[in-house]
Amino acid sequence: SQKAKDAVLIPRYVRVNTHKSTVDKIIKSFKKEGYNFIEDTPEDLKELGKKTFCQDPHLSDLLVFAPKTDLHNHPLYVSGDIILQDKASCFPAHVCYPPKDAHAIDACAAPGNKTSHLSALMQNTGKIWAFDLDSRRLELLKRMTGKAGCKNISPVHGSFLEVDPNDPQYAKVEYFLLDPSCSGSGIVSRLDHLVDNDDEENESTTDNTKDERLKNLSDFQISIIQHAFKFPNAKRVVYSTCSIHPQENEQVVNAVLKDNSDFTLAPRSSVLPTWKRRGLASEFNGNDQDADAVVRTDPSHDLTNGFFVACFVRSSSSSKGKK
Ligand code: SAM
Repeated sequence: SQKAKDAVLIPRYVRVNTHKSTVDKIIKSFKKEGYNFIEDTPEDLKELGKKTFCQDPHLSDLLVFAPKTDLHNHPLYVSGDIILQDKASCFPAHVCYPPKDAHAIDACAAPGNKTSHLSALMQNTGKIWAFDLDSRRLELLKRMTGKAGCKNISPVHGSFLEVDPNDPQYAKVEYFLLDPSCSGSGIVSRLDHLVDNDDEENESTTDNTKDERLKNLSDFQISIIQHAFKFPNAKRVVYSTCSIHPQENEQVVNAVLKDNSDFTLAPRSSVLPTWKRRGLASEFNGNDQDADAVVRTDPSHDLTNGFFVACFVRSSSSSKGKK
């Protein structure tokens, strides 16, 4: 299938856990082991030969290895110095980028790859509340973020939708990362094993059941974003899916913008400006600026799983959140 063909070409991405090491140290360590480091990142990443690696051209904390490189037993992975995470799933934390000492919420956090990424970018300062509905997955988040050396995370078992936005403990929360359950239609390669989402689509599913399922998912995704908007100090809200369906991506963005004049899309200049593939303009009624503000990845062309990221910011003219 096309998915299988795409999966073969996907390089192995290694995120350097800056709680425990630095990009330079990790590069040195792999070179010492006999890996060949390419100083100038090649235009075409799939040309990376066996035992060859380079820095990612878009994300500063990411290294790129040849497809099929297996580092699951590597000492640097076992020690938590590196994290095996697909490139596109590293986008949301970079787009959110809470500064030091910020308060943040990761609403659908488990197993916690993006939470530990946020924690690293915040240099273990401030506070991140990490919610998840699934207690088994939340236990895994605790283990993984512990191993990664994160000290600014408070894991909370429960539905984000039940969290009271006006609870004084969240009064200073400005940053939100929303990565709710999705169809997973973008996933061609489960690089980080227990990745996101519920089950993959079954080829035999009829169009009717598929539409109904996507409608249920998008209603849920919209409710998660709407809930984040209710927090009085929410100012940067990042939404992501590992889906390629417009129903879970651009259409969700349109639905929440229509209902909330307090929030707009952050401009391209603060949303991975050098990443070329943007949203589908046809889904924004030809509004190129909105399409340009969001990010897509295409597994057949971008050497990463299919993914979508949008970032909402409180419009400067609006008053603080609705009570
Ligand atoms: N962000 C995670 C990561 O990068 O490791 C992956 C999150 S996965 C796509 C979606 C998660 O949302 C699942 O773990 C699921 O249990 C959780 N979830 C579903 N409904 C939820 C709700 N109402 N509140 C909080 N979490 C929820």
